[in-house]
Amino acid sequence: MKYIATIGLEVHAQIQTKSKMFCGCRTDAAHAEPNTNVCPVCLGLPGSLPVPNKQAIEQAIMTGLALNSSITTDSVISRKNYFYPDLPSAYQRSQYEDPLCVGGHVDITVNGQVKRIDLTRIHIEEDTGKLNHMPDGSSLIDYNRAGVPLMEIVSEPVIASAEEARLYFQTLHQLLVWIGVNSGNLEEGALRCDANVSVRPEGQKEFGTKVEIKNVNSFRNVERAINYEIERQISVIENGGKIIQSTRGWNEGLGKTIEQRTKEFAHDYRYFPDPDIPPLHMTDAVTAPLTQSLPELPVARRQRFIDQYGLSLNDADSLTVTRDIANYYEAAVTSTTAQGGSARDAAVWMIGEFFRLLNDRGERLADVSQRMTPVHVAGVIALLNKGTITRASAKEVFEESFVSGTAPDVIVATRGLAVIGDSDALLTMAREAVANNPKAVADFKSGKDVAIKFLVGQIMKASRGQASPQAAEEAVKSALSEV
Ligand code: ADP
Ligand code: MG
Ligand code: ZN
Repeated sequence: MKYIATIGLEVHAQIQTKSKMFCGCRTDAAHAEPNTNVCPVCLGLPGSLPVPNKQAIEQAIMTGLALNSSITTDSVISRKNYFYPDLPSAYQRSQYEDPLCVGGHVDITVNGQVKRIDLTRIHIEEDTGKLNHMPDGSSLIDYNRAGVPLMEIVSEPVIASAEEARLYFQTLHQLLVWIGVNSGNLEEGALRCDANVSVRPEGQKEFGTKVEIKNVNSFRNVERAINYEIERQISVIENGGKIIQSTRGWNEGLGKTIEQRTKEFAHDYRYFPDPDIPPLHMTDAVTAPLTQSLPELPVARRQRFIDQYGLSLNDADSLTVTRDIANYYEAAVTSTTAQGGSARDAAVWMIGEFFRLLNDRGERLADVSQRMTPVHVAGVIALLNKGTITRASAKEVFEESFVSGTAPDVIVATRGLAVIGDSDALLTMAREAVANNPKAVADFKSGKDVAIKFLVGQIMKASRGQASPQAAEEAVKSALSEV
């Protein structure tokens, strides 16, 4: 029997604002002393009044616009009621009916094919606090995170494999960071995902019963958790069992999903509109400037790199991984072309050397770009193109500039890396090589042209690689013509 998997993801993304969703407390308190970024509103004290954060709403709308969602004219903030210690008011402000954004899609590339993943909705809500479970069995609570703005991006159940789910999560991550609404910091929980998974026998129309895997926070774990869950569900069915609707957690150490609660304990959240917050009324006057402020998006920019700079799809992909990288590359292109080089030269050095060094040294672009600027990248390319340095030296100069931030021409001058192009000096070396290698000269005379390469090699050795290969060959030919 063959089975078909169906997956829908609910992604929670922290919105990048200075203050919380409904109060003025700071959001960057992850590393602050526990319970120091709190106030009556985010502590849920009776009588406190929430004020929606305009910037958070605007960023969620920008996300909807970037994902082709439609923006709801009058969207409603509701109370989702449940009791849990990390939720001080015993309800979470969220959205149920009339969320901020409806529909939209994310295009992913699976094995070179574009697949469109439709979205159900995007809504805004507030984060909960954090429970810290102590070794003695007690739990400590920190409300610094309570009230931090979140958006929840819900996909339709149209994802067909764990790999597609990972690609979807990665594409979404790239886009949110690109438009500046999320830090992208998965380790700190800025982006978390709940994966809903079901299987059904091939030929069956209706979806199987879904199981929700809560709070997966890395690309790798999304793929592993879903693959595990698909296999688990198939084996339950194959063994005559039934899947019950439930919530499970991903245990990374064990590589397993573990049951947390089943449907009998499902919550009745008794959603109702928060009486303290009027509907959010969105007019064109609000959305038009937000549309204007969206940057060129990754897919469009990648295509432009292909069309404008003649890059391959793969290279354009690598150079648009983040907006910072794309900006850095384009600055290097401007500087390179101004000195007669090409956009392709800049791409080759970025992908070949820059990315290699970033990886090897485990550094971030933001740090490196303080040292090696795009102008420095272009400088190395110009020195190579002008023939001032050899390709081997160019790599050394590139690495040194990357590490120290010294300008390439300064490195070349201090280390004496400029090639010996001076024909008198080269002719002297060539004559010496000819005098010291009678066999090569005899070979040349009997018509073996490889002898020229050998003699050029001798000059390279004598000059420690700093002779210009073309000029060295000229010098060898002229020295040979004298004997
Ligand atoms: P709930 O009310 O339990 O949160 P929803 O209908 O809102 O359920 O769906 C939540 C997520 O689960 C969505 O991303 C949706 O695409 C996905 N989903 C719904 N039904 C299934 C199913 N049978 N199999 C897999 N995913 C599903
Ligand atoms: Mg759900
Ligand atoms: Zn507060």
